[in-house]
Amino acid sequence: MATVIGHSQPFIEGRGKNFCRGCLGSELFSALDLGDLPIANELLSSQTSAVEKFPLHLRICSQCGLGQVADVVTPERIFRDYRYLSSMSTTFLKHASDFVNDRIKEEMFVPGDWVLEIASNDGYLLRNFLAHGIKVIGIEPAENVAEISRALGIQTISKFFSSDLARELLAQHGYPRLIIANNVMAHVPDLLDFVEGLGILCGLETQITIENPSLANILVGMQFDTIYHEHYSYLSATAVARISEIKGLRLNKVEELSIHGGSNRYWLTKLESDYLIDSSVVRVSTSEVEKGLFDEAEWANYSSNVSTILNGFQDWLCSASEKPRKIYGYGAAAKASTILNAIDVDPNLFLAIADVSLEKQQKFMPPLGTKVIAPQELFRSNPTDIVIFPWNIKSEIATYLRANLAEDVRLWCAIPFIYEITSK
Ligand SMILES: [Zn+2]
Repeated sequence: MATVIGHSQPFIEGRGKNFCRGCLGSELFSALDLGDLPIANELLSSQTSAVEKFPLHLRICSQCGLGQVADVVTPERIFRDYRYLSSMSTTFLKHASDFVNDRIKEEMFVPGDWVLEIASNDGYLLRNFLAHGIKVIGIEPAENVAEISRALGIQTISKFFSSDLARELLAQHGYPRLIIANNVMAHVPDLLDFVEGLGILCGLETQITIENPSLANILVGMQFDTIYHEHYSYLSATAVARISEIKGLRLNKVEELSIHGGSNRYWLTKLESDYLIDSSVVRVSTSEVEKGLFDEAEWANYSSNVSTILNGFQDWLCSASEKPRKIYGYGAAAKASTILNAIDVDPNLFLAIADVSLEKQQKFMPPLGTKVIAPQELFRSNPTDIVIFPWNIKSEIATYLRANLAEDVRLWCAIPFIYEITSK
């Protein structure tokens, strides 16, 4: 039985389970129950360290379309040891610089404008605005990550974003021209307070842009390995429109992006602003209904498909014992943790998992106690097969691995089913 830890700040019991953390509606249905799992990004200092597990159950609000898991683990616990650096991926870096270049081309800014990024990580995006002489402020609660951003000259506040912090920022700096909140809304337990903060900082000229993996793609693309405790919410256009409206904001446009296996970029403004509503809002919301986002039977079918995928991966791993194979993983991220924890295999079948992050190396991933090694160690180990877990950047990783490994090493991806990556 999982031990649910105590929490150091007020936590609303039942949110994400008995009622929606977005619209506060009480009609949640079960979409996928993954059982009790460890915190996905938490690595162990030794192979035999105790593993704490927590329930992981995706539910969907049938009123607003927000996917959510119940509040069982506090953000302080999840993010106390955050090791994800955006600048580790060239794909994300290019995505960020493209975004900034587009805004500059649009001539979005006039002198005096400033840009706020919430969850600015190591400054991967804001540094591009800074290079154009635009004032930027980043908010990044993980102190170790914020420090990297400050070294680039980016003013960075190490706090969680909230309505209180929004009031402070407004008093000190006035309304920003642009607010960016990429891949952060999922991590916020008190979603309504977060959106209230956005509303406070949103002047009539302010535009807010939010990127987040789309719940419809998690459904259609079988991306169940993106469901983990640190992702409290799973956004849909329908949910963003509804929740924004509650806090005086309006969804004006939705861009469908290929990054992260299918993300949406939502553009919000003040409810009473003059910005026109783009046809994409209705189009994407309608397609979510058509894809079965609100359909319990569709999710039941999904749940059964997830079991099939996990069984297939488990069988593939087990079949390795019949052949002279040396199977390794690549990418000791949350996606790997969700899959490895949901299967039951002999720990010796999976030899190690390589990752470029120095902070992850020499640690161990639960539950198998799989050691995290440096890529150079992987290259020296003569692997026969490597499973690339971050499928969203699989091409980038495959290119890197192929440049460093013998030609006959097979590269695999486990989602949406175990398959060999054959393109060179
Ligand atoms: Zn709701």
